[in-house]
Order: sequence, then C-alpha cells, then structure tokens
Amino acid sequence: MSGTVTIGGGGLAGLSLAAGLRLRGIAVTVHEAGSYPRHRVCGEFISGVERATLVQLGIADALADALALRSVVWFREGRRIHEGVLPEPAMGISRHRLDLRLKERVMDLGGTVVERSRQVREPADGVVWAAGRLPRRGSWIGLKAHYHGLAMEADLEMHLGANGYAGLAQVEDGRVNVCGLFRVDRAMAGQGSGLLDSYLRAGGNGALAGRMAAAALDEGSFCAVAGFELGRQQAGPELCVIGDAESMIPPFTGNGMSMAFQSAALALDPLERWSCGRQPWDACMAEIRKLQRRRFRRRMVAAQALHPLLLRRGGRDVIESIAAAGLLPFRPLLSLVR
Ligand SMILES: Cc1cc2nc3c(=O)[nH]c(=O)nc-3n(C[C@H](O)[C@H](O)[C@H](O)COP(=O)(O)OP(=O)(O)OC[C@H]3O[C@@H](n4cnc5c(N)ncnc54)[C@H](O)[C@@H]3O)c2cc1C
Repeated sequence: MSGTVTIGGGGLAGLSLAAGLRLRGIAVTVHEAGSYPRHRVCGEFISGVERATLVQLGIADALADALALRSVVWFREGRRIHEGVLPEPAMGISRHRLDLRLKERVMDLGGTVVERSRQVREPADGVVWAAGRLPRRGSWIGLKAHYHGLAMEADLEMHLGANGYAGLAQVEDGRVNVCGLFRVDRAMAGQGSGLLDSYLRAGGNGALAGRMAAAALDEGSFCAVAGFELGRQQAGPELCVIGDAESMIPPFTGNGMSMAFQSAALALDPLERWSCGRQPWDACMAEIRKLQRRRFRRRMVAAQALHPLLLRRGGRDVIESIAAAGLLPFRPLLSLVR
C-alpha cells in the first residue's frame, strides 16, 4: 500500500469511509472541524441502508443497539392524517452517540482522526471531501433538540406545517429527538429551543409545541443550521466528494445518513485501487462520482419532486385527501426515495 487517503470532514460519510479503508489496510487520516461528541441537526433515524453495507464499512457494531423504529404517524397542523408501518425498521440513535462511536472505531482500526482541524476545500490526489452540505445562502433552517418524557403516538412522528415540517424519533436513554426543517423567516422571534417552538407554532403545529413544552428539554442538545440548499451541492468536478457534500436528499425521506454510508461503501474499491497504485487519481475520482450518480439518481429525482408537495398548501391538501380516503401509497412512495 502506498497512497494515504485524507478525508476532509468527520461526519458519517467521512468516518465510515475511514473505517472501511482501515479494514482493507489503507492508511487514512480524517480532519474534522469540530470535536466529539457533539449534537448535530438531524432527525436521527436511519432508514434504507443494508446491513451488508454497514458490515463492509466495519461499523455494524456501532449501530447494534440502535432502537428499532417501525410505526409512523403523520400529522398536518395537529390533525392525524396517516399511520403506517415501515417495511423495514428504521434505526434510532443520536448523532451525539453515533459519531463518537464511529470516531472510536476508526481509531481502534488504526486510523487517525484530527479534531478541530478545519480544512480548505482544495483538490489534491488522495483527498476525499466529506464535509457535508456546502455553506451558501439558502432558504432553509434546521433546528433540533432532545426531550425526556415526551410521550409518542408512534415510534416516528412526522408533523407537516405551513412553513416546513418536523420529525420526532425515539433515540437512546428515553430521549425523543425533535428535528424540523423550515423556510427561513428572519422575523421569527426566539432563541435556542424557543426558536423551534416559534417555528412550530407559526406553522400551525402548536399542539406539538405544547407537548414539547410539557416535557423536559435537554437544552445542551439544541442545535441549529442555516445557509444551505438541498440537492446536488456543486462542490466542483475537480473534487472527490461523498455524502451530503455530493448531494443532500430532502430530510423528510430519512435517507441522508443511509446515503452517507452507501456513498462511503461505493468509494472503497476505487480508493483501494488508487492506494495500491493500480488506478490514477483522476480515474478513481471519476469512478466514485459515476457510482454515486448511478446509485442515487432515482431517489434524488423522486425526493425533490415530492418535497414541494409537502411545502405547498395545495400539496398538503392533496396528501390529506388521499390519506383520508385510505389511498396514500406510503410504501411505494417510500421505496422511490430509497
Ligand atoms: C433538518 C434535517 C433533518 C435530517 N434528518 C435526517 C434523518 O432523520 N435521517 C437521515 O438519514 N438523515 C437526515 N438528515 C440528513 C443527514 O443529517 C445527512 O445526510 C448526514 O449527516 C450526511 O452525513 P455527512 O457525513 O455527509 O455530512 P455531515 O454529517 O454533515 O458531516 C460533515 C462533517 O464535516 C465537518 N466539516 C465541515 N466543514 C469542514 C471543513 N472545512 N474541514 C473539516 N471538517 C469539516 C463537519 O463538522 C461535520 O462533522 C437530516 C438533515 C437535516 C438538515
């Protein structure tokens, strides 16, 4: 083995790629701008990744005790509009716990993880960019917080509102993660978790906000992110990118973390060939790009076509009417975004 792989970004894509490369004996260094453990804006339910992918990456044990989440209830502005069961259970685990475990896994396997090491986005042979969504002027804000004692009506709840949506997922230690994606409203009042409360109430989800107010908030878990766009991130053709840094699927799918793992797994063979000197860097990079586009094209197109339906009043009317008639094709729609 000759080439060391350097990864910019120690989220799920970067860390799982590093673990998978170490399993193949490839030298790897991950540079992470932040440090572990830390909370991240994320719905914290993982849906649609095959166990074989996790095994290939050497990270299946990190998810072994994740909660199995099966039942789902959809609400629109407080009204229950649909209930269903996922064909395969989703996994519920906090990013606080998962990212730390993955970092430890990389280190146990002999990889290097450098924390508080912010990299500049620059192409170079052997460099994989896994630093997540591209910061840019965007129309979204993501907010999340953990609650104790928040009684759930199903393992997963989805709440549609006039300004976005919020998902509730059970994670470890009796916590419920509440995570919302909203259109930015610069006039919105509130700080910390108060902002989440304000966005929910403004979108007609006051009943959910009331349930949250009656539960015990872990204020340290609150986090927010803004300044991003969904879809292809346009990191530049000269960069080798995986995970959200390549494409960010709309969060309602609950598939972004699975895509991060899947894109890492797709990159393993080409990177191994480059590292052994059997493939030049340009060809390795082109193959990683091609494999991701082929694997993710359909679900990205479907998710981006469905997303506006959730965000437009007319779209929500249609969803509610179809659901009321018992005709919502929940499983076929789910399989389209997997
Ligand atoms: C509101 C919301 C809800 C979501 N809900 C879900 C859900 O329920 N289920 C699901 O599967 N997905 C969900 N997602 C998507 C999911 O969070 C992402 O798809 C997933 O985190 C992508 O992993 P990643 O490793 O590519 O990026 P990230 O997890 O974002 O990791 C990128 C890492 O790179 C680091 N970094 C950034 N810049 C630099 C730099 N310059 N140098 C070094 N390091 C850097 C960051 O600190 C971070 O640790 C949601 C997203 C949002 C916004």
